[in-house]
Amino acid sequence: AVSGMSGGILMVSAEADTKQESKEKSVKKRLIILGTGWGGISLLKELDTSQYDVTVVSPRNYFVFTPLLPSVTSGTVDARSITESVRKIARNKRKDIKYFEAECLQINVPTKTLLCRDISAIKVKGKEDFYLDYDYLVIAVGAQPNTFGVQGVKDYCHFLKEIEDAEKIHQSVVDCFETANLPHLSDDERRRLLHFVVIGGGPTGIEFAAELHDLIHEDLVELYPSLHDQVKITVIQGADHILNMFDERISKFAEKKFQRDGVEILTSCFVKGVTENELTMKDKAGQLHSIPYGLALWSTGIGTRPVVANLMEQVGQKNRRVLSTDEWLRVKGCESVYALGDCATIEQRKIMEDIEEIFKLADTDKSGTLSIKEFKDSMEQIKERYPQIDSYLKAKHSNDVLALLEEKLPRGKGSDAELCIEDLKKALCKVDSQLKIFPATAQVAAQQGEYLAKCFNQLEIGEAEEGPLRVRGSGRHRFKPFQYRHLGQFAPLGGEQAAAELPGDWVSIGRSTMWLWYSVYLSKQVSWRTRCMVFFDWSKRLVFGRDSTR
Ligand code: FAD
Ligand code: MG
Ligand code: MG
Ligand code: MG
Ligand code: MG
Repeated sequence: AVSGMSGGILMVSAEADTKQESKEKSVKKRLIILGTGWGGISLLKELDTSQYDVTVVSPRNYFVFTPLLPSVTSGTVDARSITESVRKIARNKRKDIKYFEAECLQINVPTKTLLCRDISAIKVKGKEDFYLDYDYLVIAVGAQPNTFGVQGVKDYCHFLKEIEDAEKIHQSVVDCFETANLPHLSDDERRRLLHFVVIGGGPTGIEFAAELHDLIHEDLVELYPSLHDQVKITVIQGADHILNMFDERISKFAEKKFQRDGVEILTSCFVKGVTENELTMKDKAGQLHSIPYGLALWSTGIGTRPVVANLMEQVGQKNRRVLSTDEWLRVKGCESVYALGDCATIEQRKIMEDIEEIFKLADTDKSGTLSIKEFKDSMEQIKERYPQIDSYLKAKHSNDVLALLEEKLPRGKGSDAELCIEDLKKALCKVDSQLKIFPATAQVAAQQGEYLAKCFNQLEIGEAEEGPLRVRGSGRHRFKPFQYRHLGQFAPLGGEQAAAELPGDWVSIGRSTMWLWYSVYLSKQVSWRTRCMVFFDWSKRLVFGRDSTR
């Protein structure tokens, strides 16, 4: 009887278990991630996927390590060495993650529905479109090249954004050489074919120019000896320096190196139109020039994807280039929708907008003025919400919030001073100048993805105990706002030279920096497979040279 009883109890509890399990399953919130780039994949990797019913939608069933895309154009690195399968990444999570290879065409905010389309070569006629419902949506669709409406760019210029772009560029470079080598061409035609023009002097354009220079002068010159003196590389830049987002020392060094290498740099010049063999450029003086070219790369900046533009229209964010989110990456104007990476920007809260409220909260004894202690305590408390306070103090080489009161507190005295609201405004008025827009980089997108994953991992658990992201307060302010840690930025310049801007205003230039670049980029690979492949490609290049076949 005892055993029967216990068997009965066991059965009951087992039944209850399965019931609870199925209940849990149906209760799981549906989380859809759009995009398999830096933002989407870093979110997926950190996400506790057992808590959600996760679906990933992207027209590309792989991740691309974009910083090495320029190396694919020169044949240094093989295209498939820098891609990783989304299905493998999902499988490694050992949880049921759905992936659909499709493009999201439209986000319907009121109904929380997505319209998606199979845009691949093989599909079932009449069944291209399907709908998906979400509870939470994360938009990480990145951006697309921006032509700024210049005529002919779409038809005749190359872009460098996707793996196919890089492969196409490599083929075209070799094609230009093979065609220029044919016996019946005039010298002018040869020179045109061997003129490589880069429009845009930002990191991508410059890195491409450097890779191209290496490919031509280390490999192709030996294979096409008669064409050597007809090759030319030109960079056309709108601003008055190349790499102008970097430290001045780096852009100067890059300009000098390119000059030595014979790469022509035209600054303050704008391309006005492109035809099949020629582009029109306006120079500093406003004069128009015709420039014959064999291959042109357009890399002047990024623009909005249609699906994002459509969403912006729906939620009252018209006439913007990227989605506006708050510091928790939530898209302004729509609930349960998050955005990160190149398609979004964080509108950070200005301290001066909240100054009255801050004063009221700080005045704990309701005296109408702030004592030094009240000031100090409140600043310590709001530092997390307004990270610009820390950046401002850092810029002043201090970590004491009292440094904000320098004018009010001449050295050594004033500890019994009382501050009125005007004093507080004066103390904090310069702090907001430290707010910087986060750049459209892989570094930002990856950190945002990790951050959002940590938030999602705690979101459904509810008000749990203290965690790394928990701050005083509740509801909307349960999580720390996103904070970006800039780890530095590299600019490989060709010929085994690189420049790097590292945290703490540290600039490093030269051959050793290139070794740093190699090691950092190896360590940042998403999987051991790609790490080995990239390492193998680099070694192969040293021994056998770059790939020069079309
Ligand atoms: P992406 O990585 O572009 O990913 C977007 C994803 O969304 C893709 O998978 C795409 O297929 C998918 N998608 C597009 N449309 C849809 C849709 N309608 N529905 C669903 N999915 C969609 N940054 C650095 O920090 N360091 C570097 O050295 C560096 N070098 C770079 C070199 C090159 C050549 C390029 C192009 C970029 C480089 N960047 C670098 C920038 C970096 O790649 C981007 O900032 C980063 O990729 C942004 O991540 P993301 O997730 O927002 O977008
Ligand atoms: Mg992404
Ligand atoms: Mg990417
Ligand atoms: Mg298909
Ligand atoms: Mg007071």
